[in-house]
Amino acid sequence: MDFAPDPDQRLLADNFHALGVTLNASDEHDRHGGTYFSRQKWRRCGDIGLLGLSLPERWGGLGLDSLSTAIAIEAFARGHEDLGLVFSACAHLFAGAMPIAAHGTDSVRDEVLPKLGSGEWIAANAITEAEAGSDVYAMRATAVRDGDRYVLDGVKSYVTNAPLADVFVVYASTDPRSGYLGISAFVVHRDTPGVTVGSPLPKTGLASSPLAPVYLDGVAVPVANRLGGEGDGRDVFTGSMEWERTCLFAAYVGAMDRQLGRTVAYTGERRQFRKPLARHQAVAHRLADMKLRLESARLLLYRACWARDQGTVRPLDVSLAKLGISEAATLNALDAVHLHGGAGIVEGSGVERAIADAVPAALFSGTSEIHRDVIAAQLRHET
Ligand SMILES: Cc1cc2nc3c(=O)[nH]c(=O)nc-3n(C[C@H](O)[C@H](O)[C@H](O)COP(=O)(O)OP(=O)(O)OC[C@H]3O[C@@H](n4cnc5c(N)ncnc54)[C@H](O)[C@@H]3O)c2cc1C
Repeated sequence: MDFAPDPDQRLLADNFHALGVTLNASDEHDRHGGTYFSRQKWRRCGDIGLLGLSLPERWGGLGLDSLSTAIAIEAFARGHEDLGLVFSACAHLFAGAMPIAAHGTDSVRDEVLPKLGSGEWIAANAITEAEAGSDVYAMRATAVRDGDRYVLDGVKSYVTNAPLADVFVVYASTDPRSGYLGISAFVVHRDTPGVTVGSPLPKTGLASSPLAPVYLDGVAVPVANRLGGEGDGRDVFTGSMEWERTCLFAAYVGAMDRQLGRTVAYTGERRQFRKPLARHQAVAHRLADMKLRLESARLLLYRACWARDQGTVRPLDVSLAKLGISEAATLNALDAVHLHGGAGIVEGSGVERAIADAVPAALFSGTSEIHRDVIAAQLRHET
């Protein structure tokens, strides 16, 4: 096992870090009151390849494997301050484009994927419902076959990118008696009659990433828009979550790296009691703890991605990476603010935002409790 980046990966990391830094200067915002990323900024993400990192080259992507994709995202987020944008880009790629690439019909893939990779369109993934969060397959949304189409009804509660999205990957039950075996996935265009996107939900953290409910009322979708076979929804979702639970969380590794660099610099410069803060042992130890969490998170990430690329990944590897990174992100954000003292809680300092950005990481893509359940189940299985 060798986790040293090869020359191509080093170049990729250098390029994406530089691109992330360059994009900091772009402060265009969208039509929803200036909070969310703009279409122009999104298009620039498409131009630089961020929106198609793992997408096969056939549809305009870079066709990278998991480890290279994670390295690029980590480097981009190390350079780019707006984690909400990176989160939206990753949700679009891993939970929107990748399941379509893996399971879509040729006509849908050829129509949708080049537009997703280039940034012409925005994708969203709609599975969670009010009564089906962690227990996601308890969903009530239905898809009823009617000749050469399905008719979808239901309400999806938290859909990242929904306010701006052009296309949704929607999960609904085609056989409510069969539980998770009765779930199917569909590509639904925003302009299909019966699709309504609710008002964006004001939220804590990842501020530039919009989140909203999506209402489906008699939405007719061609059979060709089904991803995989009827009842394959669980496999489609599991595959997309494997991408998301590894490569999306590379963004948090990059953000933690940037934050640690900033905190080391600050504590090296600011003096109290006639010496730099970092020369006080309690401060130095906190910096050491931040470094330990960062490197542990990175190793878990690289190992899970490497195993995916070898075809040997286990749910255990993915859950350990997701859990380890998300919990490290929150603890490091708290430490960074603490070590900046009063300066750390001033809005606009960039330090305070990390806490709000880190907290949701322990919720989306499966909460920490759900991942601990997966890990514990694997331990039982191994003994
Ligand atoms: C920023 C953000 C973006 C999101 N984007 C999307 C998106 O694009 N598409 C989408 O479909 N969804 C999205 N979600 C929804 C997300 O997947 C859910 O929030 C998540 O699955 C948890 O569901 P819930 O919010 O209903 O919480 P619940 O399931 O109600 O959980 C509440 C608490 O109870 C705990 N809990 C639940 N069950 C158990 C159990 N069996 N054992 C122990 N503890 C348990 C949880 O761990 C949690 O702490 C997003 C969420 C966030 C925060």
